[in-house]
Amino acid sequence: MSRSRTRTALVTGGNRGIGIEICRQLADAGLQVVLAARDTTRGREAARRLKGDGGRVRVEELDVTSGASVTACAERLADAGIEIDVLVNNAGVYPTDSFFALDEAGFRDALDVNLMGAFHTSQAFVPAMAKRGWGRVVNVSSGLGAMTDNVPSPPAYGVSKAALNALTLVVSAAAGPRVKVNAACPGWVRTDMGGSWAPVSVEKGADTAVWLARLPDDGPTGGFFRNRRRIAW
Ligand code: NAP
Repeated sequence: MSRSRTRTALVTGGNRGIGIEICRQLADAGLQVVLAARDTTRGREAARRLKGDGGRVRVEELDVTSGASVTACAERLADAGIEIDVLVNNAGVYPTDSFFALDEAGFRDALDVNLMGAFHTSQAFVPAMAKRGWGRVVNVSSGLGAMTDNVPSPPAYGVSKAALNALTLVVSAAAGPRVKVNAACPGWVRTDMGGSWAPVSVEKGADTAVWLARLPDDGPTGGFFRNRRRIAW
């Protein structure tokens, strides 16, 4: 990564699971980290755990489903003179209803968090990256949204991640080649979402997202990756 100053990364849903581990690994790599959480009490508690590891972390309130919350967060950061160079759209929910059991509210909730969240943050932070001519965006997606795998169930989750993958391509094209916009599948990871029986550790689950967040200037954009390797959408 070529850099004239320390880069700053914002991670949504940074208070637990894969998100806090992405914060930890980015801070360990020397980036300034904005740990964004919809609940600042939980966010501050998470940041205390990271600071115990020596990380440089600032907590911001950010509910990805609310455009107003995202705009307010972007304004607070701008007022503090903080430019976001790296955006990690990690916040997510995992509704498990089968298609015929799914109601409209449940379907919309998955889209609101997993798709609209990245829409709001991309609109808030990516234009400035494009203007500055440097940026990295990582959308934490899932193989459960892969069209080439027939969008395996659960349905609301799969549709939301397939749409997030499409948004990845759209934002990549809009941002231009100097802003690298990619999607990552972390694998099946031991978190509250993945469950204690999942085979992949949070450290490994965060790895591809962190790698994409720190891509060199000749790195890819508009791709979908797992274990640092390109996979089919
Ligand atoms: P997790 O442990 O359930 O954590 C989810 C995070 O998202 C929490 O920090 C949660 O905040 C936050 N969040 C939910 N709704 C939000 C909102 N409206 N605004 C802001 N933050 C919100 O999940 P995880 O396993 O770490 O998953 C992280 C990402 O990886 C998700 O996008 C998920 O789809 C993806 N993924 C996970 C797996 C897996 O096996 N775990 C597999 C593939 C993809 P609160 O604490 O406030 O609820």
